[in-house]
Amino acid sequence: MTAASSSQPLVACTEVTRRYDSDSSAFSSGGRSVTALESVSLSVAGGEVVGVAGPSGSGKSTLLHLLAGLDSPTAGAIEVCGTTVGSLPSRRRTAFRRENVGMVFQRFHLLPALTARENVALPLIQAGAARSERQSRASELLDAVGLADRESHYPNGLSGGEQQRVAIARALAADPAVVIADEPTGELDRETGEQVLDSLTDIATDRAIVIASHDEYTLSRTDRVIKLRDGRRET
Ligand code: ADP
Repeated sequence: MTAASSSQPLVACTEVTRRYDSDSSAFSSGGRSVTALESVSLSVAGGEVVGVAGPSGSGKSTLLHLLAGLDSPTAGAIEVCGTTVGSLPSRRRTAFRRENVGMVFQRFHLLPALTARENVALPLIQAGAARSERQSRASELLDAVGLADRESHYPNGLSGGEQQRVAIARALAADPAVVIADEPTGELDRETGEQVLDSLTDIATDRAIVIASHDEYTLSRTDRVIKLRDGRRET
């Protein structure tokens, strides 16, 4: 099944609440629990780019982590590609995430000791692909993001925009149906951010893409924007 042929939403989040209890982390203090998200619903189809906006602390990262299967909701359900991710045991959830969800982070998170091509090929090692297949897929993706001539460069020899395009190629390597990007242009100037978004939307066409951002321009490049405030959906 390709992402585009699916009539089901690729991401469906139904009345999701995430509460952090006072003893669950160093974030909470004074015995209070924090409701980071409250009864949030959202669905994203293949081919759709959805922006998540909202001030700091409004719950954007919490929502993205839940959608990516990095965290489980306190209440409500999250389905990715028809599977309820929160109910998978943690090892299966990790495997499911690797196959179905690509992630792009604000600070790129490339491994400095690996070349651009090796970084992009990394998810394919985890997926069990043969070396020749990994190399050709990584080269193809780097070409698609305009970095064919940077394959052998290490991250510290690349600009911020180039590093983020490598990260986008890496996120797409295992051919996930869903791409989650947390402030992907947060470290970049406007023009570079524009190129990065071009790369993302060019190569992720039939996927469900969710982008959290503070940046108006970045949000203007999405098909629709949901706004969070104090953990609730405003729009
Ligand atoms: P945003 O990404 O919009 O800045 P977050 O999702 O990071 O918002 O945070 C939403 C709320 O949840 C904030 O009040 C934050 O302090 C709280 N929060 C986030 N992660 C944790 C955690 N692990 N433990 C306790 N509180 C948390």
